[in-house]
Amino acid sequence: MSATARFTIDDAADLYGLNRWGNGYLTINADGHLCVTPSRDPSKVVNLVQVVQELSRRGTRPPLLLRFPQLLQSQIEDLAGAFAAAIKEYNYTRTYHPVFPIKVNQGRQVVEALLQSGWKHSLGLEVGSVPELLAATVLPTPPEAVTICNGYKDRNYLSAAVTATRLGKNVIVVMEKPFEVKNYIEMAAGQDVMPMLGIRIRLQARGSGMWEKSGGSASKFGLSTAELIQAVDDLVKAGLEKNLVLLHFHIGSQLTEIRKLKAAVREGARVYAKVAKKGVALGYLDVGGGLGVDYDGSRTSSDASMNYSVQEYANDVIYTVSEVCEQENVTPPRIISESGRMLTAYHSVLITDTRAPIPGFLGANGQTRSGREPQVVRDLFYLSENISVKNYRECYHDALEYRDQLYNLFDLGYISLEDRAKGEELFWDVAHKSVRFSHTAKFQAEEFQELESKLHQKYICNFSVFQSIPDHWALDQLFPIVPIHRLNESPTIRASLVDITCDSDGQVDKFVDLKDVKEALDVHETRPGEPYWLAFLLIGAYQDTMGDLHNLFGRVHEADVVLDPRGQSLIREVRPGQNASDTLAEFGYSEEFLLERLESALRERVNTDGMTREQADALAADYKTRLGTYTYLD
Ligand code: PLP
Repeated sequence: MSATARFTIDDAADLYGLNRWGNGYLTINADGHLCVTPSRDPSKVVNLVQVVQELSRRGTRPPLLLRFPQLLQSQIEDLAGAFAAAIKEYNYTRTYHPVFPIKVNQGRQVVEALLQSGWKHSLGLEVGSVPELLAATVLPTPPEAVTICNGYKDRNYLSAAVTATRLGKNVIVVMEKPFEVKNYIEMAAGQDVMPMLGIRIRLQARGSGMWEKSGGSASKFGLSTAELIQAVDDLVKAGLEKNLVLLHFHIGSQLTEIRKLKAAVREGARVYAKVAKKGVALGYLDVGGGLGVDYDGSRTSSDASMNYSVQEYANDVIYTVSEVCEQENVTPPRIISESGRMLTAYHSVLITDTRAPIPGFLGANGQTRSGREPQVVRDLFYLSENISVKNYRECYHDALEYRDQLYNLFDLGYISLEDRAKGEELFWDVAHKSVRFSHTAKFQAEEFQELESKLHQKYICNFSVFQSIPDHWALDQLFPIVPIHRLNESPTIRASLVDITCDSDGQVDKFVDLKDVKEALDVHETRPGEPYWLAFLLIGAYQDTMGDLHNLFGRVHEADVVLDPRGQSLIREVRPGQNASDTLAEFGYSEEFLLERLESALRERVNTDGMTREQADALAADYKTRLGTYTYLD
């Protein structure tokens, strides 16, 4: 776009990459508002600005999390559709059974929406602990669906699996360790009903990307080849070999390279065939999770992306298993996959309101000479006035030296607070100008690239990184971030984002980009009295449950938003976020405890300091009101 051309919504879509990573679920309307298209039909949209305005009118203000159950439906259709097409393409003779790993998002509304949409595809659940199994036991699933129990299993876990089996679920407990096989055999001796059995194998093949350690021979999970043989022998000896129906592997979440998947499926299918040839019929091959999400839209094997499509994934699983089984002359298995990220990532959006940028600090407010400044400040004035495209490097290096002198002289007591302030501002003025001039060079020197990233404005966003996007903090995971309005206006500022926790890690300074990782987000100048809303997208997988209460900022308000059959958007359910009383209670400060302590402190003030009872009551009422307030900025 030329400097004078008007910035359009197409420019915005391109700048933020919506069409690259949005999976067809996002569009921008003529007013420059970001809209969600749950059915990928651009004529049927949920306008995010209208939803936020409507919720705010009802008293539910950002930060808020919008969930789109219809996106869960679209994703399950994509996954099941891809496997159906692959099965047809390769004339595969067995069926595909998707299973949702509940740990990816245990939220009841999420799991129920998925199960409802996935009913016709016999979607089952995968659990990794007793509490998850207790939830899965009572959630309705179709008769053919399986319930996969992963994770370490003690007797308590196995007993919970027996209960679920008695209640009619097709439970398969997957043995992760040899002692679990022993426990299973012992338990089977005293039970008339037992869940079916699976074995997780430790493959040589490894995944790729951030979760690569989940696979490979040193992985924490699964049985080695020798342990597998022993387990099969033990089960045969106990007469339980018919119970062994599944072989499972998982080589890590967010697989970025398709060839890693193919290698794992080939190895897994080969092990399956060899076990089947030992006379154990099995029946299911569970290829685990790992189907990626293209967070940056680059379609590459970078950590935030994947170099394959969902269809390619399904094709490779079906084709590879079919090929190995044909070579080994064994009946092909029914295929299970435990895709969680792919199913849930798209369905939720966090909206934060952005406060004014952090003022001062790295800005250069106009400075005038008084004529009485110390020499070092005069030197900085000189640099600020004489810096040019020809000498900017030298000027910047001199400015660094003068800044050191400024602080040394201040420490020794020779510089006033006012002169220190003036010197600092002049230094940043030189820094800003140097960066501007450095752009004229063919290649911007690294020193100025680093400096530029420091000079970005910082926009304060009303949310907690630790609560809402913990993987950004813990793993540097990238999530797309886009303003939800003013997308027909050129964003003139490049900023990083800081949250409202008192933690320097509570910031976002890496952003998705097609070719690289951006260190600043293009944002608009905030206008006094007007909100500026940013959306954090693709946060539906893992973030909800991993989020924590740092600084006691709690779960945010949530709303489920759907499109009705006429294409009108509907706010279906609003769930209030946690208030101060809720987050305090999680750490032992029950409301009762706090009010009791408050009352005794007030009583003491009344008895000894002359506070009136009315004043004490007013303070108590105020404190109580505060306990009921949302933990985020008003
Ligand atoms: N299955 C198992 C055993 C896992 O450990 C995981 C997560 O790492 C998954 C499934 C889900 O993986 P994803 O969300 O990448 O599909």
